[in-house]
Amino acid sequence: MNHDENRQTPSPLDPADWDGLRQQAHVMLDDMLNYLHDIRSRPVWQPAPDEVRQSLHTSLPLEGAALDGLHQTFMQQILPYAVGNAHPGFMGWVHGGGTVVGMLAEMLAGGLNANVGGRNQMPVEVEREITRWMAALFGFPADASGVFVTGTSMANLLAVWIARVRLLGDDVRRNGVAMTHLAPVAYASAATHGSLEQAYDLAGFGTRILRRVPLDTDQTIDLHALQVMIEADRANGFYPFMLTGNAGTVDTGAIDPLDALARIAKDNNLWFHVDGALGAPSMMHPALAVKLRGIAEADSIAFDFHKWGQVPYDAGFILVRDAELHRRSFASPAAYLRREEAGLAGGSPWPCDFGPDLSRGFRALKTWFTIRHYGADALGASMHRCCMVAQHLAQRVATHPELELMAPVALNIVCLRYVCEDSDRINAEIAVAIQLSGMAAPSTTLINGKLAIRAAIVNHRTREGDVDQLFEAVLHWGGHYTGALS
Ligand SMILES: *Cc1c(COP(=O)(O)O)cnc(C)c1O
Repeated sequence: MNHDENRQTPSPLDPADWDGLRQQAHVMLDDMLNYLHDIRSRPVWQPAPDEVRQSLHTSLPLEGAALDGLHQTFMQQILPYAVGNAHPGFMGWVHGGGTVVGMLAEMLAGGLNANVGGRNQMPVEVEREITRWMAALFGFPADASGVFVTGTSMANLLAVWIARVRLLGDDVRRNGVAMTHLAPVAYASAATHGSLEQAYDLAGFGTRILRRVPLDTDQTIDLHALQVMIEADRANGFYPFMLTGNAGTVDTGAIDPLDALARIAKDNNLWFHVDGALGAPSMMHPALAVKLRGIAEADSIAFDFHKWGQVPYDAGFILVRDAELHRRSFASPAAYLRREEAGLAGGSPWPCDFGPDLSRGFRALKTWFTIRHYGADALGASMHRCCMVAQHLAQRVATHPELELMAPVALNIVCLRYVCEDSDRINAEIAVAIQLSGMAAPSTTLINGKLAIRAAIVNHRTREGDVDQLFEAVLHWGGHYTGALS
């Protein structure tokens, strides 16, 4: 077939009418720009009505449908009923807000459709560039390795896998952890995210090897208790091998004393991992970076660009000091992944040598655009601003007789409650009422066994006025449910 014939038989999956498609594409782009521009005029969240849920269900579509109609379905039946984390009133869990720039970069990456598992291509170079930036940001050696993964849950798992190879040697990849005669144990504070415990499960160790170290009153790890536990474990025949510190716990944003943990890890020959899902990117602001002192001593750091870094989901990352150990923990000898000196199969090592994914998307591009466009200073400033907004809320809560601040505000998370009888039930109801109002979306958590309403200021759009609204709403619904207004 010559070129002309190729052109005469285009793929039916490409547009038959490129001009029409182009127009439709611009409508879709404009709709999303409008969505972000007008985000404040929307409810943060609203539950999808049953009719909307039902209307989505069809049998597997055998025939196609026009793009404009599908886009309308998206606009009317999907977009209005998302979680709402782009909205400045969203304060639940730990969700990033995203940016227009990140959205546009996603479009570019989608069009290019690069498979960034490896090979000789610039998209791999972009991922390496971000690894170099992160090594510099965290004070790691310039030859540290890094790789994008879905999120910190996965990055924590990679850290456990790598620590496993350090503990048991390369043979563990053939023999499995069950072959060891050691009785390995690991440590992290009681406030550590559940994904770390799950990582020990998935890595074959079982969750029980993770020792949950008690907390100090400020929700950070109790250093004395940690040292006592390590010594007791040693005396009882266990083999301590890994210690995880938190750079921002999920409940309260508490930052463990990373420098002290680094020293304890060194003294005890432990792999020192940092879960910095939320807080590690705050290295970009000098006033926040000082709280992370010691992070440069870590063996590995897991964190998310999609939370405080404002990169669209998903963009998790792990940075590893010992690149060779990192590679040895994952690299596969498969023949079809053969490397060459020249040609498209050159440029080894590849990202697929540093994690379990072979085919993988171009997460690095939206991250590269975000950091290049805004600069680390502006991103750091937006994180610092979130902390100021959180302090503003904390101060109002602390000085109001009907409200109680449930934990110190180390970073950007405020845990509060309406003080009343049956406080757990009432505060849970308050949180739901506020969510249903569409005005703000806090979540809840347990602090020292008591239910707290939790406002995590992660969105770069959230301002003092937004948390003032939350504050008023807690008082309003608290009064409503306790009958104080009647
Ligand atoms: C969010 C979070 C995680 C999990 O990260 P994902 O990106 O959701 O997988 C782990 N640890 C902490 C402290 C978190 O805040």
